[in-house]
Amino acid sequence: MSTAILLLKNIGKIFETEELETHALKSINLTVNKGDYVSISGPSGCGKSTLLSIMGLLDVSSSGEYFIEGVNVTDLSLDQAAEVRNAKIGFIFQSFNLIDELSVFDNVALPLRYHADKPNNATIKKRVIECLEKVGLSHRISHKPNQLSGGQQQRVAIARALVANPAVLLVDEPTGNLDSKSADQVMDVLDQLNKVGTTICMVTHDPRYADMARTKVQLLDGAILHSPGVKLVG
Ligand code: ADP
Ligand code: MG
Repeated sequence: MSTAILLLKNIGKIFETEELETHALKSINLTVNKGDYVSISGPSGCGKSTLLSIMGLLDVSSSGEYFIEGVNVTDLSLDQAAEVRNAKIGFIFQSFNLIDELSVFDNVALPLRYHADKPNNATIKKRVIECLEKVGLSHRISHKPNQLSGGQQQRVAIARALVANPAVLLVDEPTGNLDSKSADQVMDVLDQLNKVGTTICMVTHDPRYADMARTKVQLLDGAILHSPGVKLVG
């Protein structure tokens, strides 16, 4: 059996404030295998972003265990979590999160400039161009983000997420800020990437896009609704 890229066992998350305890996630069991395309959908507030943040080591669970490529990452220090995140995870957010002052090239190159492998400039250039070609934007290399459409900016964000060759892309509402045509183009890019082997886990509240994934996970009130095709861990 192949090692799961991501393996969540009984993951729970409680947000505590002085007056309130929110049980954002309740005993989530989920595997993402190499080459999977998983969508996570459900109504606003059901825990989608919380789950993706824990999967991306941006937040920690309150209970349960989490493994990335077989390594237990449940109780890492902040520094260790950052190291695993840089090496293994590519993020794509609704709001693109590009740096306006930097060119498309420099935005995409950014993860490589902080990478443990310390690639040289020639390697960085080759890799950035490869990734921009994958999203159909190699002709916009010197543009600034604000000279591009929203859909193009999101495709630059996808290239940036890919550049360090992560084990998985974690995608949170990638089309939330886009018109339907640009949204379709972004979803096409993700679909093509998955077809050539990229592992994707995507949060969306749009049922049309959730259906493009091969494994569909439905969340409700912090728990996975059991549905056909969902891989649950025993
Ligand atoms: P979704 O992405 O599905 O809309 P979230 O994961 O953002 O939902 O939120 C799930 C629940 O956790 C909501 O009830 C939300 O209010 C709560 N929540 C999320 N983040 C925090 C936080 N930092 N502090 C307190 N409650 C939070
Ligand atoms: Mg959310």
